[in-house]
Amino acid sequence: MFTPKLDDAPFSYGVGKAVCVGRNYAAHAAELNNPIPEQPLLFIKPADAVVPLQDTVEIPSDQGAVHYELEIALLIGERIRKATPEQALAAVAGVGVALDLTLREVQSGLKAKAHPWERAKAFDGSCPVSDFVAASRVQDWANLGLSLDINEQSRQDGNSANMLFPIPQLLAEMSHCFSLNPGDIVLTGTPEGVGQLQDGDRLKACLNRDWVVSQATVKTL
Ligand code: ZN
Repeated sequence: MFTPKLDDAPFSYGVGKAVCVGRNYAAHAAELNNPIPEQPLLFIKPADAVVPLQDTVEIPSDQGAVHYELEIALLIGERIRKATPEQALAAVAGVGVALDLTLREVQSGLKAKAHPWERAKAFDGSCPVSDFVAASRVQDWANLGLSLDINEQSRQDGNSANMLFPIPQLLAEMSHCFSLNPGDIVLTGTPEGVGQLQDGDRLKACLNRDWVVSQATVKTL
């Protein structure tokens, strides 16, 4: 387990679980032929899934395609449970980006059997996260840009404006299912452009261009 960085300093709490949402951007739901959900599709990655998005991102080599999904990530600073959108937003200490690494072929098999997704999405190291900047810097939660370049080519370029469930409402909904505690991470869904990672890929993940810039090289294990 590691301690995330907030404004270049170690956060007061070690990292906890990551609470995630699937299909929160319509264009991404469409690219995987999934229906638009009526309520957020929530799932959790355990603390061992969360690793730094820097230097090296390690992915398994023996379980089929490993897909990247770049997402805006929130660092929780206060405990919330059954919160309103306003209360939920006030509990966010930091904002950054994260990869929701997904074993896509494993996930397709699980989906076909209507089984849970943990084998495909909750494995160790499946949630590399960037450093975080203070949430107080955000003027408009519905206008945050996120982008992922691989080997100097743009692969994902999205904006929170296109979320089906906006960040305050999403957080509140999550807090009605799971308590969120200091050190927990919330992933907010991926825009279109997901694809497969290869050994040696050089990743550059950004929040709002230069608020957060995280770079790492993919290594298959
Ligand atoms: Zn995702």
